[in-house]
Order: sequence, then structure tokens, then C-alpha cells
Amino acid sequence: MIRDPGEVPRDGFFLLRGEERLRKWRSAWCDWATGIAVLVALLLTPLLAPFPAFAGGLDRAGLERLFPAPLVVGERDGHIPVWPILKQEAGSYEVFAYAFETIDFARIPGFGGTAPNLLIALGPDGTFRDARVLSHHEPVFLEGLGSEPLFAFVEQYVGLSAKQPIRVGRPNARASGAAPATTVDGISMATASTRVVNETMLAASLAVAREKLGFGGAQLGLRVEARPEGDPLPLAALERRGWVTVWRPSQREADAAFAGTGLDDPEAGEPDAPFAALTIAYLNVPPIGRTVLGEAAFARLMREIGPGGHAVMVVSTGRWNPLPEAFVLGSVPERLTVQQGGLTVNLRDAAWERGDLAPGLPAGPWTILRIAPEAGFDPASPWTLAMKVTRERGQIFPDKVSRDLSTEYRLPPELFLREIPEAGPGWTEAWRARAGELGIIAAALGLLVPVLVRQRGLVAREDAFSAFRLGFLAFTLGVVGWYAQAQLSIVTLVGVTRALVQTGDLGFLLYDPPSLLIWAFVLVTLVVWGRGTFCGWLCPFGALQELAAWLARPLRLRQITVPPRLDRALRGVKYGALAAILLSAALASPLADSVAEVEPFKTAITLYFVRSLPFLGYAAGLILLNLFLYKGFCRYLCPLGASLALAGRLRLLDWIPRRAECGSPCQLCRVRCRYGAIEPSGRIDYAECFQCMECVTIIHDPHQCVPQVLAQKRGRRAARRPVAAE
Ligand code: SF4
Ligand code: SF4
Repeated sequence: MIRDPGEVPRDGFFLLRGEERLRKWRSAWCDWATGIAVLVALLLTPLLAPFPAFAGGLDRAGLERLFPAPLVVGERDGHIPVWPILKQEAGSYEVFAYAFETIDFARIPGFGGTAPNLLIALGPDGTFRDARVLSHHEPVFLEGLGSEPLFAFVEQYVGLSAKQPIRVGRPNARASGAAPATTVDGISMATASTRVVNETMLAASLAVAREKLGFGGAQLGLRVEARPEGDPLPLAALERRGWVTVWRPSQREADAAFAGTGLDDPEAGEPDAPFAALTIAYLNVPPIGRTVLGEAAFARLMREIGPGGHAVMVVSTGRWNPLPEAFVLGSVPERLTVQQGGLTVNLRDAAWERGDLAPGLPAGPWTILRIAPEAGFDPASPWTLAMKVTRERGQIFPDKVSRDLSTEYRLPPELFLREIPEAGPGWTEAWRARAGELGIIAAALGLLVPVLVRQRGLVAREDAFSAFRLGFLAFTLGVVGWYAQAQLSIVTLVGVTRALVQTGDLGFLLYDPPSLLIWAFVLVTLVVWGRGTFCGWLCPFGALQELAAWLARPLRLRQITVPPRLDRALRGVKYGALAAILLSAALASPLADSVAEVEPFKTAITLYFVRSLPFLGYAAGLILLNLFLYKGFCRYLCPLGASLALAGRLRLLDWIPRRAECGSPCQLCRVRCRYGAIEPSGRIDYAECFQCMECVTIIHDPHQCVPQVLAQKRGRRAARRPVAAE
């Protein structure tokens, strides 16, 4: 019997009729149940959102355990949750570090939807003195790699400076010497999570640095280097230009610094006589360095301090000497400091043997002060050299009072090359670093679309299309899954739900560009074509199952036939799993992470099957099951597939072509569809269709499509053209 043509779409794409759509919505009770559960989750989201999110929980006792004696935990800052950690130095307490929890300053949700919380101890010079993970919900570490690699990752920050932009490099980049000093080794399989942790540490540290250390608002990572060109100049010319300065503070200035202390200088001369005389030169600028040191010594010094390092020479010729006899080569001078922007710059003596300086340079004790690249020193901006002068009162236990005398030193900015770090939030680095992968995946998506759209093209040529499909599935598994780690997962939806409840910030998605690209593509194709574009082509675990089944074809394994009623019931299981996961995520229950383990993606794709036995057995079992029950996991268990099937209800197009004879009387496509996505009526169930296009190949093939075969046998005109989606 020929079905009423009015039920059958005619030509081209068309919108679903209201009646038809309604019928689809009513088609399965499980869809309703899941819809209600998702709705409840969404309703709960705004109810829970106003509750305070996480805040640091460490108190003095907790900090004392983490920073035991001889360190002492000081009083918590009155304005921000920062604790000074003190250390006894020469009889008095000095700040060793400022300790804080990152959650109080930077709440960047990770891929579990909640922000990682780390304890940071930041030294007064901006150096990380300690860094530890207090809590995290990164799925790849939980029940996956374990937390140890994350702990080791964070330990790499100790000794680095928060004044520099710290980047996450490839694994072992530092060990191989290929990365700059401000790069930390990433963790393969957890690139995106480590970037979130890096961003958290830097954002929180800079927030604290702005309040306590006076930096963090400037251009971090600014690299300034002296222009390499420039011949030696006569010393007098350098002095005239102010490139070499001689600073002669007078006795009057020195006494003024001690005004009100009642302390006099027992060796004081006339008020206008020089108290000290310091010749100061920034040696990196070639005309200065070459003149003062000579060509060979200048080249050696530049080699020693390395790229980004700085050298400042100070020669003392006055009465008061900041470089006493006891000064030790290579040590940090006690009486000399360099300051910039209100901060003291880390420096030490470069341990050069005293020798002859440039002829004409005054003779006297001298030092070359070496400043490391991490110090954040900007030689193109003014800086000050300060002398610490100490006077004493009393004989046996003298009362010491110190004062700084300082002078400004500046060089013309034209002598320097400035390399300003590219501005942009932390996730931009991830997009730059993964541009190659993104390009490859985007090209593959760009190839897939016309293949699916032009159904009379490649799809109609069975052998060629079959080869294309196998190749694309191999690409999905190898490149999208194992290489780019872009397996979409229900875990992301859990993270999104948690983030909406706790912070409303979904920025963490930007740290994983390949996954975000595929999510964007899937969302568009969901609305146009349904869930099958992802499940049939872009899911790495789905591809793994299909490739395993293809490899097992020569074995001719007998397939399990699931009775229709049981099949319908089993299909509801995946919606139940989805509802359980999303509800527990919305209620902030850790159960969400456990139920999400129903997905074997982490085991099979993210961790390359390197995992504990139960997980391994589960993933391998599903692949084995797939050989007897084709894509059994996808059809019955996958919560991500369920969520896509639900969202696919919004699909605009019925685009798989059908004939009036499909389902009545012809059942060929239904029998051949290995996904059970064609109903006896011939209608495509788009919630179950994986867009393998086998039925489309059949419908265009006059040797397979039964109405066309019969028409040819009867010598009639070929059956009417099917609805095409071109
Ligand atoms: S149902 Fe799940 S496992 Fe299967 S293809 Fe879809 S997302 Fe992948
Ligand atoms: S045979 Fe047709 S209905 Fe079945 S999954 Fe493939 S495209 Fe979808």
C-alpha cells in the first residue's frame, strides 16, 4: 500500500510541521523525565547561585602547620586575607613571604566547574617561596592521572618571579633546555587544566602583589635590552651625556638624613665637603660597557649575565665607602641597593676580580652589580642607587641607626629596545599555542559539511564514501581524540552546571580551544541536522567503536538482537544517567563525578588506556560489547549522547531523504540501519540517527533501492526521486 503522499515531504529541505514536532516530543517517556530533571537543575541554578561560593579556609593554626618554626605566622592583614610569614634576621623579624589562598583572589573555574585553590607564599621581591595545591576538581587528575602530577607541576613555581609572565610549555620543555626560564613544564593529557592553574596562580599573586608589594599593575614581562650597536666613547663624553654619573653627596646631605636622631658623624668634614663619591655606570649599553671595561671584558660580561640580565658598575672614591674591606666577592652588598618603582631590585656582586678599569676612571673599591632577568628591572626607566649609612650610639652594645642616601640614574630610552608582551587574558596563550591543531580540525569540519550536504556526490558512491568515512573516523580518533584531546564529554556539562551555580563564569572553556571549536560546530549542526553529526563523525570514542567493529568484520561475529520493547526501555537508561549527573552537579554533589564515570572517554581517549584495572576493564568491555551489540554504549548508556539527542529535538530540518515507499512496504533501510534509527513506518528517528548515511547511499542506488529495482524490472520509469537534502 502506498502511503498518503501528504505525509511525505516533497523536495528539498523543509521545516517540521507543528503536529509532527509535537508527536516527536511525546514519543518517549524518558525524554520527558529527563527534560523535567534538566529543568529542575536549571531552576535550582539561580536559587543556589546567591550562596557564597568558596573562600579560603586556612586559619593561623593551619598556616603554622604549613610554615613551621623558625618561621613565624604574623597577624592577618586587616583588609585582605593575606598572612605575613616572618623570619628572624639579625635579631629582628623580617617578612619572608606573604601567604594567601588563591580562591580569595582569583576564582577561575577549572574543567570540573569549580576553581582550584592553592596556597601561595610570595616573597617581598615577588618570588614564589612556596606553592601547594589545597583543593581541585580537575577531572583529568581525579581518578585519572592522580593528583601527584599536579602537585609536581605547581612546585615548579618555587623560585620563579611573579613579576614575569609565566607560561606553560610542553612537557619536559625546561628539562630539555628548549624553554625560557619563565616557562613551566606542562602535563600531557592535562594541558588545559594546567593553563587554568597557571592563570589562577598568576592572577591571585598579582592581586596580592598590587596590595602588598607595589607591583602587579605595570606591564609584566616587559623586556628591555640595550641596543647592540655603539662604539666606545671617551669617558668625558659619557659623563657629559650623563651616561656615566659621578654622585658626590655632601656632608651636609648626610647629616640632614640623620636630623633628629642626635647622631653625629665623628669623622665629619666641612659641610660642603663630599661625604662620598660614587661613579655609576649601566654597563649593558655598548658605548658605556666597551669604554669602561674594554671590548673583550665587555663581551665576557654580557655572556655571563645572559639575555635579559643587567650589570651596573659602582666605583667608590669618597671618604665614606659603601664597599668596605670585608665585602665578599659574589655577595649581596649590604650598603648598596638599587630601587625602581618603590621596590628594591634583587642584585648581587658579579664576582669579578678587581682589575684595571678604563683609563681615566677613578681608582677605588668597585663592584659590578648583577641583576637577574627575573627581577623585572627596566633600565630604560629611571632608577635610584641608594647607600645605607649607619651611625652608632654607645660603646658596648651600640644603638645603630641607618639612613639611605640616594641618587637617580637615568639613560635615554633611545638606547634600548623594548619588547612589550602581547596583551590579552591568559587563555589567548592557549589559542596561540594550539593554532595548528585548530587549523587542522577546522579544515576537517570544513570538509565534512559539503560531503554531508551534497548527498548525490560522494555519499552516493558507496565504495568511495565508505573509504572516506573510515578515514574520517580514523582522523577523529587519532587527531581529534588522542592528539588534540578534544573528546567532548558530559564532564564539560557538569563543569558548566557547577560553574553556573557557583560563579557564573564559563571562561574555563576558553582554555581548551579544540574542544570549544567542536562544541561550537556541534551546537550549530545539532540545530540544523541533529545529534548524529557529532556522534557519527566527531566523537573519538564513537569512532573507536566503529573502527573496532570494522576490524572485526572478517570474524563474522553473531550480533545480539534486542527485542523492540527491551530496546525502547534500554534507550531510556542514558537519559536516566544524564538526569542523575546534571542534578547532582546542580546540587554540588560529588556524586556527579562518580556517575560521570559511566563515560569511558577518560580511560580510552584522555589517558590512552593507562589507568587502573576496573576502569580499564570497563572501557575494554564496552568495546568488546560493541562487537556483538553495535554501538551498544552509544544507544543505551551514553549521557552525552542523551543530552545531544534531547537538544537535537530543536532540529529544524528533516534532511535525510525518504521515499513514499520507505516503510510501506519497503523495509530495506530499516533492516540495514545498524543504529536502529529507522522506525517500521520508515520515519527516521533523528535522536538515534548517527548520520552514517548508509540509507542515503541506498536510496540513491538504483541497484539497491527496492522501488527503483522493481521499477526497472517492470520496465517502467524509475520511481519518483526521493527528497534530497542538497
Ligand atoms: S553516543 Fe556517546 S559515545 Fe556514542 S558517539 Fe555519541 S557521544 Fe560518542
Ligand atoms: S542508516 Fe540512515 S537512519 Fe540509520 S544511522 Fe545511518 S543515516 Fe541514520
